[in-house]
Amino acid sequence: MNLAEYQGVWVFLEQKDGAIVPVSLELLGAGRALADKRGVPLAGLLIGDQVKPLAQQAIHYGADLVYVYDHPVFRDYRTESYMKAVIDCCQKYKPEIFLYGATSTGKDLASAVATDLATGLTADTTMLDVDPESGLLQASRPAFGGNIMATILCKKHRPQMATVRPKVMKALEPDLTRSGTIVEESAQVREEELRTKVLKIVRDAQRTIRLDEADVIVAGGKGLGSKEGFQLIHRFAETIGATVGASRDAVEAGWIDHQHQVGQTGVTVTPKIYFAIGISGAIQHLVGMQNSGLIIAINKDPQAAIFQHCHYGIVGDAFEIVPLLIEAFQKAVHGEVQYGGKV
Ligand code: FAD
Repeated sequence: MNLAEYQGVWVFLEQKDGAIVPVSLELLGAGRALADKRGVPLAGLLIGDQVKPLAQQAIHYGADLVYVYDHPVFRDYRTESYMKAVIDCCQKYKPEIFLYGATSTGKDLASAVATDLATGLTADTTMLDVDPESGLLQASRPAFGGNIMATILCKKHRPQMATVRPKVMKALEPDLTRSGTIVEESAQVREEELRTKVLKIVRDAQRTIRLDEADVIVAGGKGLGSKEGFQLIHRFAETIGATVGASRDAVEAGWIDHQHQVGQTGVTVTPKIYFAIGISGAIQHLVGMQNSGLIIAINKDPQAAIFQHCHYGIVGDAFEIVPLLIEAFQKAVHGEVQYGGKV
């Protein structure tokens, strides 16, 4: 493989319901920084049906050019059809670095493409950098149960690929004056040759919570003691209009569904306010919430690691403190809050 033939940073522009998904916009921000450091263009790859209008949005968010595969065969995501388009484009233009959101679609597509192109893929990356001279991508992620950060290099194969979780990178402010190039592509993908047919899309009515979009999260951990104890978290969240989060131990105890789990094997969140209640602050939990605007911890152990990572810490029993908070917030709603009171 002649590595010198490969140039440019690419982002897979995942789209859903007529919009580019937020993680792809975040990756354009991260990709812009890499492309500028390396002195190469940043390109987006957009695949779908009637998606061409979205290309301009990618340019506003930092792309220099966007390759578009716009055809009814790409209406619904299917590994087979999308990977054909991606591989077609990679073979034609040879990107040096290619980033995907670590969504179900991004993870599925990236792994299929990496296998087909016989290149490396770093999953769930949390930091990205590039050596400006060699173009070597430094993709870092927690390893060995989160005890170390591993920086993974792909020295001999191209493109160097990585998936990045939503909310880990920051999107740029859109610049509506930015201009770029839109390149319309067509792939040799024919409906009758595809083995997978989408007959119907059934949305899971249960999956209604969007932890990664919540402004305020009240998260509970093993310290709540039982499923009944965990109800305190629901009551508090309901009082202040927050979304409920949880540690893995609370999820594994069966007190709450996995979709509420925050952390390395759960969701990465960046709310304005994060309450960590009865959560010790294990590294695997911290990586999922440490970029929250304001972290408030309640824990009865003054030595708990969470106190090293919060803005405000309350040492005490959750079952004494949280009811007082609920009471205080309820009073605040009714205009009766007394500062300097018990809370
Ligand atoms: P504990 O560590 O048991 O902490 C409970 C805390 O509650 C203690 O600090 C205690 O002092 C406090 N407490 C007890 N009673 C009270 C009370 N009445 N009032 C106030 N405080 C009280 N964890 C995650 O959360 N998310 C992940 O995504 C995740 N992924 C993982 C991936 C891997 C590969 C591995 C190995 C582990 C992962 N973990 C994850 C698990 C993680 O290591 C911890 O075990 C877990 O986060 C601990 O959950 P916890 O803080 O609720 O429980």
